Amino acid sequence: VASKLNSSGLLRTQGLIGGKWSDAYDGKTIKVYNPATGESIADVACMGGRETNDAISAAYTAYRSWSKTTAAERSKFLRKWYDLLMAHKEELAQLITLEQGKTLKESIGEINYGAGFIEFSAEEAKRVYGDIIPAPLSDRRLFVLKQPVGVVGAITPWNFPLAMITRKVGPALACGCTVVIKPSELTPLTALAAAELSIQAGIPAGVVNVVMGNAPEIGDSLLASPQVRKITFTGSTAVGKKLMAGSAETVKKVSLELGGNAPCIVFDDADLDVAVKGTLAAKFRNSGQTCVCANRIIVQDGIYEKFANALRDAVLNMKVGDGFSEDVAQQGPLINEAAVQKVESLIHDATSKGAKIILGGKRHSLGFTFYEPTVISDVNIDMRISREEVFGPVAPLLRFKTEEDAIRIANDTNAGLGSYVFTNSIQRSWRVAEALEYGLVGVNEGVISTEVAPFGGFKQSGLGREGSKYGMDEYLEIKYVCMGNM
Ligand code: ADP
Repeated sequence: VASKLNSSGLLRTQGLIGGKWSDAYDGKTIKVYNPATGESIADVACMGGRETNDAISAAYTAYRSWSKTTAAERSKFLRKWYDLLMAHKEELAQLITLEQGKTLKESIGEINYGAGFIEFSAEEAKRVYGDIIPAPLSDRRLFVLKQPVGVVGAITPWNFPLAMITRKVGPALACGCTVVIKPSELTPLTALAAAELSIQAGIPAGVVNVVMGNAPEIGDSLLASPQVRKITFTGSTAVGKKLMAGSAETVKKVSLELGGNAPCIVFDDADLDVAVKGTLAAKFRNSGQTCVCANRIIVQDGIYEKFANALRDAVLNMKVGDGFSEDVAQQGPLINEAAVQKVESLIHDATSKGAKIILGGKRHSLGFTFYEPTVISDVNIDMRISREEVFGPVAPLLRFKTEEDAIRIANDTNAGLGSYVFTNSIQRSWRVAEALEYGLVGVNEGVISTEVAPFGGFKQSGLGREGSKYGMDEYLEIKYVCMGNM
């Protein structure tokens, strides 16, 4: 894999500052590992504050000219970048599987999804319309311009090494902003490959910069700089809160995609096959490591036993293995040892309080960070597994009696990102979708993310939206112009 990537120039290990690939100034590196084998794949530059400040300066310089390009020009650059991402789909997908562990099929899915944000942004760049407002006085003309917010700091996690970047950088560039990206140190290679393709697409030097290494130091430099006008972040709620607080000093615009605690509500009147298939997709995508993965499967009394049995049978059939394996594994490893230990501790807490393991519940015989796909029943809302994000292949089943109960249980959390409802009643679909305090609701569907729809959370799951026309607003300032004495 590595040699093929090398020949297309996509295996990059340095940061990108002002169009130049750069080592850390002190020469330090960090290792990137393959979670399926524990082997080290590459040593990448371990950067900090100094490199970040230079990346910000480069982005600030590039902003002067990039923000003056026409929407049509920016659209063409983005389209070219999209075409190159798609042309290198296979290699990029291999890179994701290599450093992140998800199956090759899911990695291909992520390239389509991730590149989709660049394509959509290329199209949407041309639709950043202003407004003309009827004036309250006859000698005045009032209008509204939309302008790029400026230099953007984008901090991203490891679970979608490409898509979490493109859903930020696509709209930012489309609006005329320039960016400093800090990918996760666990999965920097995909980010660097995408940045290389942005150069090949002709996007001018300094428009896209990448630094990685010492996360708190890089974060602090982005926060401290008055030139960075926007922070966009996907990751843990704890770090998101720090970034929001740190943005106050220079009053930056902030977008946050934080943790979820997705309810998946299965009503008695659901189609059992649709509910099982949807739950499986919502729960086990990326081995349970997405912020919209079903975290609590809340099942009505009348269908509980049937659903639990059917879900167990379906989970039993899922193959676990190296994402590259020929017999097409459906579940890869977890990202690292800490992730496995968190799953173990949540299961321990639940079983010590009365939950029952009906499938799995332990490390997989493949070793490393592989974990058995797991179903546990008799879970209640006081167990940690109902209150914290599991981020692993564990389906906890809770029981409810009435629609009112289901909504109360579902909303009993500070998170509010993804949610799922399975029912064949149109009236109930509307009632429940409206009552859920969540930014996304899937009705009879377990996978709903797409670049054309707004993604984002209620409550402590975040601020702002990514994707769709709404995602563009996050990178725009509104300017009101009043012409008087006409
Ligand atoms: P996860 O649990 O998904 O790894 P994190 O919030 O720890 O969530 O990580 C998401 C991103 O935030 C990563 O790129 C990580 O390096 C970065 N990060 C972690 N701590 C900080 C910090 N103090 N300042 C800026 N970025 C940080």
